[in-house]
Order: sequence, then structure tokens, then C-alpha cells
Amino acid sequence: MPMTDLLIIGAGPAGLAAAIASAEQGIAVTVIDEFVKPGGRLLGQLHQEPSGQWWNGIEQAERQYDRAKSLGIDIRCGVSVYNLERLTPGGWRVSTTAEAIDADNVLLATGAAETACPIPGWTLPGVMSIGAAQVMTNVQRVRVGKRGVIIGINILSVAIMRELQLAGIELDRMVLPAKNPVTLDAGDPQQIMDAMLRVAHLAPSALLRFGSGLLKNPFMRSLGLRFYPASGVKMWGVPIQLRMAAVEIFGRDQVEGVRLTQVSPTGEPIAGTEHDVACDFACIAGGLYPLAELAAVAGCPFAYVPELGGHVPIHNERMQTPLAGLYVAGNITGIESAKVAIAQGTVAGLSVAADLGRLTASTETSLLQAIRHVEQTRSQATIQFHPLIGQGRRKMAALYEQQITS
Ligand SMILES: Cc1cc2nc3c(=O)[nH]c(=O)nc-3n(C[C@H](O)[C@H](O)[C@H](O)COP(=O)(O)OP(=O)(O)OC[C@H]3O[C@@H](n4cnc5c(N)ncnc54)[C@H](O)[C@@H]3O)c2cc1C
Repeated sequence: MPMTDLLIIGAGPAGLAAAIASAEQGIAVTVIDEFVKPGGRLLGQLHQEPSGQWWNGIEQAERQYDRAKSLGIDIRCGVSVYNLERLTPGGWRVSTTAEAIDADNVLLATGAAETACPIPGWTLPGVMSIGAAQVMTNVQRVRVGKRGVIIGINILSVAIMRELQLAGIELDRMVLPAKNPVTLDAGDPQQIMDAMLRVAHLAPSALLRFGSGLLKNPFMRSLGLRFYPASGVKMWGVPIQLRMAAVEIFGRDQVEGVRLTQVSPTGEPIAGTEHDVACDFACIAGGLYPLAELAAVAGCPFAYVPELGGHVPIHNERMQTPLAGLYVAGNITGIESAKVAIAQGTVAGLSVAADLGRLTASTETSLLQAIRHVEQTRSQATIQFHPLIGQGRRKMAALYEQQITS
């Protein structure tokens, strides 16, 4: 049975950063990823920072991969992990589609998944999740269609809308999903207005940025929503229609259009306003949640922390879980940007090294600095998926303390 000091599941930004940080301390590391190449969700990312600089995920991933290879890290792609068992007296047996691997320590860096948002007609060819549109466009280089409608207004759909546009794909508009017991907040204009204010700094128009500043006042905000134009407010030329919802995607053999209705400021449909718009593809954006099943399989305790994006394995700021030799980093711990995932990965790698007794007094200082760097990166993040992320992190730290003292 092959044996390693540290097995990392997920070669995204968190997993690769952890691999680099621990290999730099002399630890033997193996990284496994089910995708055909390393980089995780970084491979689809391309956005402009407020400074004007571009965040090119493919280049970032290549930099991490080159550094990892130079350190002799064993990276295996196209391999899925489906089980983890604790060994006696310690360590883990990890079952993969290739072989079983025993490891003294395991780091789960499996990232996030998209929340489903069912809409009548969503099984038609030409309907895809917004993340699938990003992967097809930026990773597979496949044209997803000629003219599309994005259903679901959030930070991710705004970022990917821009990426599709840069690839020459026309977008007709961005609307809400119709409000129902499944779509909940995603179909509520007020909730979405609040969320959009957090992405206003990405908007190209100074006027929109100014308008967003005004809308930070709650009274102005309710007025803003009441008088929000039915035709929407444009971002990069695409109407963002907060008072319009998709009730159905239609077409005979593939997407031919989307049926829309105007909605009240609370998301109720306004009778007599239904109409159709033509398009040949539709993207559904329901948001992200931590992809944490493997932590559950390992027997790790969980907590539901909405500020972090859902059910999250309990962990501390050193990325340790309450189970000896099991660590987590990146979006599995809460939905944040790639830069935060990288910073957390570095903490996790150093934390494993510390627990293996490989850190000297000076590298112990590096671990504390790395923990502070996570907080700094979080406070400066251009893309922030959850506004109360700091609160969620504090809640998680308290839950970890409770767990290990109980
Ligand atoms: C669809 C989508 C689009 C996103 N777009 C952006 C964006 O534009 N900008 C941004 O800042 N953030 C974006 N994010 C958030 C993104 O997840 C973070 O930016 C960052 O990539 C998180 O890093 P990570 O290392 O935690 O996870 P990921 O980058 O998701 O990497 C996780 C890796 O784990 C692998 N994996 C998962 N399960 C298994 C298993 N069982 N066996 C083997 N391998 C496994 C996956 O193949 C993947 O490569 C997006 C997330 C999603 C889901």
C-alpha cells in the first residue's frame, strides 16, 4: 500500500498552496484531483481588479503548479476520491478510483459546488449552470451559444457574465428566478439589491458606482427598488433587471426563449406583464455551497453556518478539524475568493508541518503570519460571496473550541 506524510484531495488554489507550504518544510506530499489538470476553479477565472489589473486564473494555476513540481510534489489528476477510513493507531486510508493510499495526514480541499435552482424548462438542451458556462468558455473553449439570458443575479453570475462577454458571447439580460419555496432569497429583489451593492465596485461606470453609494442608505434603497427601471440598469451594456423574473425556459428541442414577468419590490409577479424574450441558451445561477461530503464520510463533525455558505466541517484557524490528522482549506470551509483559498492553503500546509514537528521557532512564526495573512486577504477581497463572512469565521472558531472541550 503506497504511504505518504500528507495526502491532499483537491488541486485547486487551496490544495496546491498547502502542498507547496508543507513540501517546503520537507514533508512528502501527494495531491489528487478528479479533473484532468490541476488548478480547480482557478482555471475558469478572469476578472479585472478595481486597481485595473487582471486576475488571470490560468496563469495563477500555472505558477502554483510549476512551484509544486519544482518541489517534487506528486500530483495525480483524473483520479476521484470516494472514501476515507481512520486507521488504528493513526492515519487514514483513502480510497480512490485508481488505488487505496494510506496517509498519516489528509487535507480536504475539495472546493465548492453550485446550488440547484429549478425552473420549468431547465432540462432543455441549452440550459446550464453559470459555472458550467464558465468552464465551457474559459477551460474547454466551447461556445455556449449566440445570445443568452442569465437567471440569477449574484457576484458569481456578474463576474461570469463579463467573462462570457469577453469571449464574444452576447447576453440579452440578467433577471431573477421566479420567487418560490426553493429559490427563496434568490428571487427576492431586496436581498439581491443588497448583494449587488457589494459588487458595485466592479462596475465600469462611475455613475453606477455613485448610485450604489447613495443606495447604501436603507431609505434610499427602498426608494431605489420601487423606482428601479423595468428595463434594468446596465453593467457592461447588459441590463440587470432586479424587477424581472424568469418563470419558464421554453423551446421545442432546445432553448428558444425565456418567459419573463415583472415583479414587485418583494418579488411577487405583476399580473399582465408576462412576455417572452428570444435566446438560444440560458444560464442558471443559484449560488455556491461548500463541497464537504468527504469530511462527512470521514466522520468529521459539521455545523450549519449560513454566513459561510452552508454546512461546513468544524475547524479552527489552523485548519485542523477535531479529528487527528484531518485538515481542511479553501471553499470547503466557506465560500470565498481564490486569494483567500490560497492563503488558507498556506496555513494548512504549515499547520501539518507544525503537527509533524517540522517547524522551527522561526517557521512557527510563519504559521502565525500566515493566519494573519488570511484575515488581511479576506478584508481586501474584491470578490466577496458572503457579507458576514468574518462573523461566520468567528462563529466557527467558537464551535471548534466547544467541540474539543466537550
Ligand atoms: C462554478 C464556480 C465558479 C467560480 N468562479 C469564481 C470566480 O470567478 N472568481 C472567484 O474568486 N471565485 C470563484 N469561485 C469560487 C472558487 O471556488 C474559489 O475562487 C477557489 O477556486 C476555491 O479554491 P479551492 O481550492 O477551495 O477549490 P477549487 O478551486 O474548487 O478546487 C477543488 C478541487 O477539488 C477537486 N475535487 C473535489 N472533489 C474531489 C474528489 N472527491 N476527488 C478528487 N478531487 C476532487 C476538484 O476537481 C477541484 O479541482 C467559483 C466557484 C465555483 C464552484
